[in-house]
Amino acid sequence: KLQQLIRENMKELAALLTAEQGKTLPDAEGDVFRGLEVVEHAASIGNLQLGELANNVANGVDTYTLNQPLGVCAGITPFNFPAMIPLWMFPMAIATGNTFILKPSEQDPIVTMRLAELALEAGVPPGVLNVIHGGEDVVNAICDHPDIKAISFVGSTKVGTHVYNRASLAGKRVQCMMGAKNHAIVMPDANKEQTLNALLGAAFGAAGQRCMALSVAVLVGDAQKWIPELVEKSKTLKVSGGTEPGTDVGPLVSCAALSRVESLIERGLADGAKLELDGRKPQVAGYDKGNFVAPTIFSGVSAQMSIYREEIFGPVLCVVSVKTLDEAIELINANPNGNGTAIFTRSGAAARHFKEEIDVGQVGVNVPIPVPVPLFSFTGSRGSKLGDLGPYGKQVVQFY
Ligand code: NAD
Repeated sequence: KLQQLIRENMKELAALLTAEQGKTLPDAEGDVFRGLEVVEHAASIGNLQLGELANNVANGVDTYTLNQPLGVCAGITPFNFPAMIPLWMFPMAIATGNTFILKPSEQDPIVTMRLAELALEAGVPPGVLNVIHGGEDVVNAICDHPDIKAISFVGSTKVGTHVYNRASLAGKRVQCMMGAKNHAIVMPDANKEQTLNALLGAAFGAAGQRCMALSVAVLVGDAQKWIPELVEKSKTLKVSGGTEPGTDVGPLVSCAALSRVESLIERGLADGAKLELDGRKPQVAGYDKGNFVAPTIFSGVSAQMSIYREEIFGPVLCVVSVKTLDEAIELINANPNGNGTAIFTRSGAAARHFKEEIDVGQVGVNVPIPVPVPLFSFTGSRGSKLGDLGPYGKQVVQFY
C-alpha cells in the first residue's frame, strides 16, 4: 500500500521537496523514486529473513538460528536526499519487525513528514513509526537513550563519527554513511563526448549536493587537452529555480551553504589553483536573492589544497592532472574519503586494473554515479563509512 501511495503522490512529493530543498523537479522525482525502490525491496524481503538450521550436530541435537528484531531503532538523515534516505531506513526496519524513530534534517523535513503520513495511511500502526525534530541535542539524546538498540546515520563524516562513537559506547549497533570526495579518472582513450557529458551531470547535477557527486576529475596524460572543451560545455548548463523547466543546476540549500561554497572557491584561488570557470554570483532572472553558484572549474589542483581536502558540496569541479593510471589510483586511495569513483576508458585492461586496485565503496566503469539498486547494499571506505553493515540490500536485514 505504501508503494501505491508513493506512486500516486509522486508529483506532490516532488513539488514539496523542490520547494524546500531547491533541487530540480526531475531530480526531486528521482529522489522519491530511488526511495520507492527500497520500499519495494522491503515489501519482498521474506526470503532474506530465513534463519539457519543444522540437523544432528551431535547425537539427537539440532541447532538453529532465528533472526529476531532488535526493538526500537532510530535513523538520522541529511538534507540532500530528504525522501530517498528516510526511505532507505524505516521501511526496512519495520519490515524486519522493529519500531522506528526518524530524525530528519532540520533543513528540509517537510517531504519526510509527508512520507511518514503516507506510511500511516498505508496502515503502519500508531507508535511503530515516530518522527522527532531537532538538531544536535536531539541526536545526542538518541545516541544515549537506553531503549534505542540501533542507529542508522547518513550525513557528514564529522557528525557521523561523533554519532558512531557516542552510540557505540552506549552499547548500540550503529551504521554511519558519511562524507565523500569522489574522483573520476579520465583516460586519454575514453570516448570524449560521452565522458565530458557524464562529468558535467555528475559534477554539477543537484548543484553538487550529492554524496556521490564527482568533485575531482583526474585527467591522465593527453586527456588534459580536454579542459577547454569541458569548460565550454559547462557554460551551457542552465542555472535557475528548481521548478523552472530545463534547469540543470538549482540553488544551494541555504545562505550558509552558499557562503561556505563561495569561501572555499576563494581559498582555492588563494592556494594557487587556476580558476578556469568562475560560477560565483551568476545573474539568475527572477531569483535575485537565490543561493546560486553556477558550474565552477579549477585546474592545477594539488592534494594539499583546501578545495581538494574538503568536501565542497557545491557545483565545483577540481581538475588534477597526472601522467599514469597508477598515479591516479594512488591519489584516490590516499584520499581520506572513499565513497564513489569511476573510470572512463575504452580499455578493458585499464578498467580491470582500476577495479582491482581501487579502494573505494562504489566503483563505476564508464558509469559516473555508480549507485547500487536496493537488492545490493551501499558501502564506503575510510572516512565515508563506519560500521560493518550497509543500508538496504541483504546487509541491512542483518543489521536490523
Ligand atoms: P550533517 O552531518 O550536517 O547532518 C546530518 C544529520 O546530523 C542531520 O539530521 C543533522 O540534524 C544532524 N547534525 C548536524 N550537526 C550535528 C551535530 N553537531 N551533532 C549532532 N547531530 C548533528 O550532514 P548534511 O549537511 O545534512 O548532509 C550532507 C553530508 O551528508 C555530506 O557530507 C554528504 O556526503 C553526506 N551524505 C552521505 C551519504 C552516503 O551515503 N555516504 C548520502 C547522503 C549524504
